[in-house]
Amino acid sequence: MSQDYIVAKFGGTSVADYDAMLNCFNIINSNPNVRVVVLSASAGVTNLLIELASGCEKEKRKEILEKIKLIQFNIINRLQFPEEIAQRIESCLKQISSLSEAASLSTNDALAAAIVGHGELMSTMIFTHLCKEQGARAEYLDAREVIKTNENFSEATVDLEQTLQNAPVVLDLLKEPETKVITQGFIGQETEGKTTLLGRGGSDYSAALFAEIIDAQACHIWTDVSGIYTTDPRIVSNAQRIETISFKEASEMAIFGAKVLHPATILPAVRANIPVFIGNSKDPSSGGTWITKEVVNPPTFRGVAFKRNQSILTISSLKMLGTSGFLSKVFSIFSKYNVVIDCVTTSEVALAVTVDHKQNLNHGSLENPDLLAELNELGSVKIEHNYSLIALIGNKLSQTSGLTKALQALDNSSFRMVCQGACDYNICFLVPADKADSTITQLHKNLFE
Ligand code: ADP
Ligand code: ASP
Ligand code: MG
Repeated sequence: MSQDYIVAKFGGTSVADYDAMLNCFNIINSNPNVRVVVLSASAGVTNLLIELASGCEKEKRKEILEKIKLIQFNIINRLQFPEEIAQRIESCLKQISSLSEAASLSTNDALAAAIVGHGELMSTMIFTHLCKEQGARAEYLDAREVIKTNENFSEATVDLEQTLQNAPVVLDLLKEPETKVITQGFIGQETEGKTTLLGRGGSDYSAALFAEIIDAQACHIWTDVSGIYTTDPRIVSNAQRIETISFKEASEMAIFGAKVLHPATILPAVRANIPVFIGNSKDPSSGGTWITKEVVNPPTFRGVAFKRNQSILTISSLKMLGTSGFLSKVFSIFSKYNVVIDCVTTSEVALAVTVDHKQNLNHGSLENPDLLAELNELGSVKIEHNYSLIALIGNKLSQTSGLTKALQALDNSSFRMVCQGACDYNICFLVPADKADSTITQLHKNLFE
């Protein structure tokens, strides 16, 4: 690490209104090492922009634009000198309006990304202004100058080599003493200069990338909970904060649905060995979770993560019995239709896989008739929706009574597809959606309370 720089990221609720933004300012202002600040769009704005990007009628567009304007101007109207920033946001809104008019005629991923990326552009413009008003040296940086990606517009892959080459863009700004660089999460740019998105919740990933780019000593993710808990504290009020957790464990929690961290966040942090802190922007002194390379004596049971909206696809065929190559045929069909699989179980004559029912737009859907036709040639296909995937995360789980304990929690639930063994860090199973919360609560009680 060449400098003592820290990257701080604030999520949507942390920049939802003026008072929330002021909390963010106080956090970054009280720590001189925080030099790069990555922001999400103000809470609600991304969802509204996505609605616009899908193409709506004139009246609907007007209504959504008014809602976005209200969120942003509720902040702007509390500033001491709102005139200049009000004009900049008005011109963003005009741009969103004309792009969404185009989307109403015919939309596409590139146009959608151009519309949706405006959420982060607006929040960072306003926050830069607020920081300056509060007397800080703040410099607005367009993240697209730095984060370069492929042209997968809604869930782009970062071109790491090119992105790291852009380090001087940030480092030059940081040469100015005390300057805080304010930039957007979530957005990048493909080779032709068009805006791309890093996937929902991708600002965490952007923050970790910026930390890697400037070789930061730490990346601080400020959100609306005081760290990573043993499970989502909104579901289990007895969930306990995890004080320190390894990159590997945190990434398992994130991959299996713990929304507090975007699953890709850990990649840059691991590559550059940068510790990540998760804290609460509304209560910064309440502490948080440190994610580091190793932790001393990691516990057997770490947490319970979950993903809703899971579908199970089962394909049964006697052709599978005693033959080789059956699975490869099935998976090449999934690959052809870009269907992303989470869990897999097999018996002699059947294969079951889980798929996120609300997959990213770029991912194939189980409803695709061509996909189903090809799978039906291999066996009889059944699709069941409305399941939740629950993952018990821990260490050396295969060497413990983890599965037994998990099964005890499932006593009163009908459950499907237990997956254990592929790695030592998780045991997964599916329960009907309406049993998810009670199962998570019971499992948490059995293992953590
Ligand atoms: P931000 O907008 O700051 O990125 P998110 O809404 O993406 O915030 O993530 C924070 C939310 O993650 C919390 O409000 C909480 O409900 C949820 N969450 C899910 N699992 C966990 C967990 N294990 N620990 C903490 N929060 C969790
Ligand atoms: N604003 C984007 C979203 O809502 C990115 C983020 O908040 O991380 O998904
Ligand atoms: Mg998030």
